Amino acid sequence: MNPIVIAEALNKTVKIRAVKTTELVETARLKHDLYPTSAAALGRVMTVGSIMASEWKDPEAKTIIEINGGGPCGSIIVHAKGNGELKGLIGDPHIYLFNEQTGKLDVGKAVGTNGYLKVMKDLGLKEPFSGIVNLQSGEIGDDFSYYFAISEQTPSVVSVGVLVNTDYSIKAAGGLIIQLLPDAPEETIEYVENLVKTMKPMSTYIDEGLTPEEIIKTLFEDANILEYKEVYWHCDCSKEHFKDALALIDRKDLVSLIEEDHEAEITCQYCNKTYHFEEAELKEILEKKDAVENREHLNS
Ligand SMILES: [Zn+2]
Repeated sequence: MNPIVIAEALNKTVKIRAVKTTELVETARLKHDLYPTSAAALGRVMTVGSIMASEWKDPEAKTIIEINGGGPCGSIIVHAKGNGELKGLIGDPHIYLFNEQTGKLDVGKAVGTNGYLKVMKDLGLKEPFSGIVNLQSGEIGDDFSYYFAISEQTPSVVSVGVLVNTDYSIKAAGGLIIQLLPDAPEETIEYVENLVKTMKPMSTYIDEGLTPEEIIKTLFEDANILEYKEVYWHCDCSKEHFKDALALIDRKDLVSLIEEDHEAEITCQYCNKTYHFEEAELKEILEKKDAVENREHLNS
């Protein structure tokens, strides 16, 4: 297991959260047949999502991230829960763009910059919190720094990285978020600014074999570890979930599924699990839908 490590440092004026996600991103790669740049893009968002959801005490609380920058990889969606469950998907899993100048995978180009980064925090309340910002570079780390500054008024350093082997397997992945606590003094701000200039990319530390604890202690001598939180790939889809989804499609589409196809097969986009619906089950969904709509009709 590779927990998210939560720490504080510099006399409790910064909070640091770090995680190694090599195995988590490798699981996503195998599920979605990710090519290197798609793997790096989705892996970076999954890594930030895992760290963001680590703030929840409620195991069912959920952080949902949606990114679309108009680039060839399409939308990236990540769901992460307080209990450590995480799932994600990317519009086009087969992007392999390489930036000759930097010698790195071109995540910025794959994601694009003509779009948004949206975060929804669902605590089971009626109105989930939601924040949205324009994408800055499409490189994910910078975009989240911007999101934290604008939407959550929290100055943050976000470092995420994914290294991919030549056989497309994930070599190293991880992330680090450093957040200044309210009223952080000038020395803390200076220390963090210097750190940003000198620290290595997260994926390099992970590739060198450092654990998240060791990375935190390398960056902050006085770091004090507060907590560990698990994160693992899990899709919470179910037949019930897709029954609800079928009830929401247009009545005529549902009728044509019954009359023409006599069955339906739905594949979960996150985990590729397939759910089969018999004609009788579809009829039941239609009857329920009609009953609900009639009731709404009478009430209005
Ligand atoms: Zn699923």
